Amino acid sequence: MLLAGCGWYGAYVDGFLYAVTHRIEYGNFPYGELAHGEQGLVDDYGEMLGVTGKLAVMRALQALGKRKREANKLSCPCGCCLRLGRCDYRFVLNRFRNIERRRWFRQHLKEAFVPIKKPKPAKHKK
Ligand SMILES: [Zn+2]
Repeated sequence: MLLAGCGWYGAYVDGFLYAVTHRIEYGNFPYGELAHGEQGLVDDYGEMLGVTGKLAVMRALQALGKRKREANKLSCPCGCCLRLGRCDYRFVLNRFRNIERRRWFRQHLKEAFVPIKKPKPAKHKK
């Protein structure tokens, strides 16, 4: 953590490390609400997967939860605006396929992240 110790960020990182330590020891996050742990997860996964932001992290995990052939049809998490199958980022993702099963990624995505609601299309007034 590069910025640890700087003001609120330091306090935040300390809090997150506490949460992780607690989870390792007791098997769950000390916070009742999911959202508290979520930002930490997004940051950690973002760093690990080489993407930024919750949407990109969720897309990457979603892709890992599908067979390669299915995943290739999804929008690429790297932000290139291509399908995953047309971007070299798929090779980055494929490295993670050996670490856990597709089922684990699907389950994890469902349990650890609050789904992003798609913005409703603006209604045009007559
Ligand atoms: Zn891409």
